[in-house]
Amino acid sequence: MNTSPDQGAAMARAAQVDQLVFQDPVSRYPAIEPPRQHQPEPGLDRDLQPRADLGEHSYRGTGRLIGRKALITGADSGIGAATAIAFAREGADVALSYLPSEEPDARRIIEFIEAEGRTAVALPGDLSEDDYSAGLVTRAVEGLGGLDILVNNAGKQIAIESLADLTDEQIATTFKVNIEVMFRLSREAIRYLPAGSSIINTTSIQAYKPSATLLDYASTKAAINTFTKGLAQQLAPRGIRVNAVAPGPIWTPLQPSDGQPIEHLPEFGHNTPLGRAGQPTEVAAAYVFLASPESSYVLGETLNVNGGTPSP
Ligand code: NAD
Ligand code: MG
Repeated sequence: MNTSPDQGAAMARAAQVDQLVFQDPVSRYPAIEPPRQHQPEPGLDRDLQPRADLGEHSYRGTGRLIGRKALITGADSGIGAATAIAFAREGADVALSYLPSEEPDARRIIEFIEAEGRTAVALPGDLSEDDYSAGLVTRAVEGLGGLDILVNNAGKQIAIESLADLTDEQIATTFKVNIEVMFRLSREAIRYLPAGSSIINTTSIQAYKPSATLLDYASTKAAINTFTKGLAQQLAPRGIRVNAVAPGPIWTPLQPSDGQPIEHLPEFGHNTPLGRAGQPTEVAAAYVFLASPESSYVLGETLNVNGGTPSP
């Protein structure tokens, strides 16, 4: 079955109910069967078939981040965008980092943030370019008037069948965007973050269960887990908490822009215990929890949001 009008209707119904309504996680969203599709990297949420649920019409804030100031990388689409919407609904101002080609997606998220009466600061640029990544945190601080949440979420995932075809250039860029930049942004951020702040890094189920086609990507995700646990200990005495979120298969533009072999798309997420892919808004709640003071005793943790696949 391809994504049918029925599935589209089910997605629309799911989006009418907010995340706090008692519901069955198996059927909260349909087990989508995305048609085979391809977008040039980095892909746009706008062009996903079917569209993903970023919580635009469902995420309900409960005042957990009032007055907070967050920088989110990769905030234009997917998990980062759903997190940006959730943070704004919880009362936070948000600075958004994204690639210039993602401006159409970013504009839409900025409108949702501003509709909450919150400030959105647009900071487009390429994290693989040092001129952009150096000083990014400072520009966010200037735009927001401070900073107390850093979400290191941008990621590059290009599937390659054989190690023989994995180029030096791809290895270097994947490591740079996924993990090296995380060191640098975190280093810049600790100049500004007051006690009570949170750094939240996006890792992946790939850290534990690497796909044969994602050697470079999966290796960076394992490094992110280790970086998170080490930095959490270093910053604990300063009252800065560092944690990670490890998503499983989530329907985002990362997947049809060479993140998966195209023939795998219709089955995406069906092998999880819940039997379906996750939607970005289902992951956003994990970032809200880790950013909010309610998780004050949670440090160095990797919160798995993966539909039930066992992980260490
Ligand atoms: P996405 O494509 O919506 O988000 C990734 C974002 O990374 C892009 O929007 C882009 O803004 C940013 N990015 C990539 N290269 C960049 C560069 N050179 N400079 C600046 N920004 C750059 O997809 P997503 O799935 O929401 O990805 C968000 C994070 O979640 C990534 O770290 C990804 O590895 C991780 N993740 C995703 C899944 C999944 O199934 N979708 C699973 C596990 C982990
Ligand atoms: Mg994007």
